[in-house]
Amino acid sequence: MEISKVKNIAILGSTGSIGTQALEVIRANKDLFKAVVLTAQSNADLLIAQALEFSPKVVVIVDESKYGQVKEALAHTSTEVKSGEDALAEVVVLPEINVVLTAVVGFCGLKPTISAIQAKKTIALANKETLVVAGDIVTALAKENGVSILPVDSEHSAIFQCLVGENVAEVEKIYLTASGGPFRGKNIDFLKTVTCHQALKHPNWSMGAKITIDSASLMNKGLEVIEAKWLFNLEVDQIDVIVHPQSIIHSIAQFKDGSMKAQMGLPDMKLPIQYALTYPARLQNDFKRFNFLDYPALTFEPADMQTFRNLAYAFEALHKGGNMACIINAANEVVVAEFLKERIGFLQMSDIIERCMLNVDFVEKPILEDYFQTDKDTRAYALDLVTNI
Ligand code: NDP
Ligand code: MG
Repeated sequence: MEISKVKNIAILGSTGSIGTQALEVIRANKDLFKAVVLTAQSNADLLIAQALEFSPKVVVIVDESKYGQVKEALAHTSTEVKSGEDALAEVVVLPEINVVLTAVVGFCGLKPTISAIQAKKTIALANKETLVVAGDIVTALAKENGVSILPVDSEHSAIFQCLVGENVAEVEKIYLTASGGPFRGKNIDFLKTVTCHQALKHPNWSMGAKITIDSASLMNKGLEVIEAKWLFNLEVDQIDVIVHPQSIIHSIAQFKDGSMKAQMGLPDMKLPIQYALTYPARLQNDFKRFNFLDYPALTFEPADMQTFRNLAYAFEALHKGGNMACIINAANEVVVAEFLKERIGFLQMSDIIERCMLNVDFVEKPILEDYFQTDKDTRAYALDLVTNI
């Protein structure tokens, strides 16, 4: 299958790890893709350089104090410059956009993703937090608008690829693989004193700071379990996690006859990014190929949910339902930011998340406004706990 015409892509978070890799894919395929919207939170220098190279129709610099700098640097170009928190949700509705790649980090992805779905844009979803927080509302809205949500997260892209040509109702269970992160095999005593510098050293993937800490604490896998539930419409007990330190098998679908399909390859996010942009076509590229002899052993072990409690909390949130995953997400965003500032220790992140789960108001059937309120309340409570720890 070939891609018949140029696809216009809006990249939310173009200055991040996923965003810059998406631009590498676009740079290598200028006849197929055009970046029409690029956005950053505050990295004005990189956003300007990207705008000068890709000539998008619009760029957004969310941080208003950087607006003047970006505006001045692009004054001689035809690129329009916008600023402010609401600008992301505004620009995703531009009529020429075909695909919105959501590569911002955290809860801030929710509003623009909803806005893009309402404008009937295909979503290439890297921002897993959107589905963690409000998966019920976002997937229902996508269905109502006939919009596809194509996963970029490598595990979910793997499952998505395994399901091509299959009947989703015949899936018995899925196994999400986890590298185990930099602290795989370590015990509580070790984790008590680990620093954010140690936590930022991921063995297999180079990613943004927040997801790297999430990978070290296994919260990333927890968020991915919740993301998988919504993307593939699964029950909690159909989702399992298996630690696979080499990160070659990206995930596995098991069908009702016991047959299993796995998707594998070298760990490189450009592949799932490219697949989400070209789906259902596949595109020739020069990415490094896997060599079996470099990996004589692919190994597997259980996830240690007693030491890495965050993964257990994510399963608990799915069992509980309601706004519990939103509570976990907000608490996690706060504690990761505080851990990166060296204000709390590694294990205190899980302590605070647990306290938020116990004490923030539970809402059994939330509407969208409830999720925004829960996010706000949980952040305030988590910050209070940080201050008094
Ligand atoms: P990065 O931190 O590298 O990049 C985040 C991007 O979002 C940057 O462009 C940043 O701008 C922008 N941004 C940050 N905060 C805000 C905000 N409040 N409002 C608007 N824009 C903001 O993150 P990653 O690329 O690593 O991750 C992005 C998403 O993709 C996350 O949800 C992550 O879980 C998911 N993901 C990432 C993978 C990876 O390999 N990196 C793998 C699978 C999923 P600025 O540069 O100006 O700060
Ligand atoms: Mg992943």
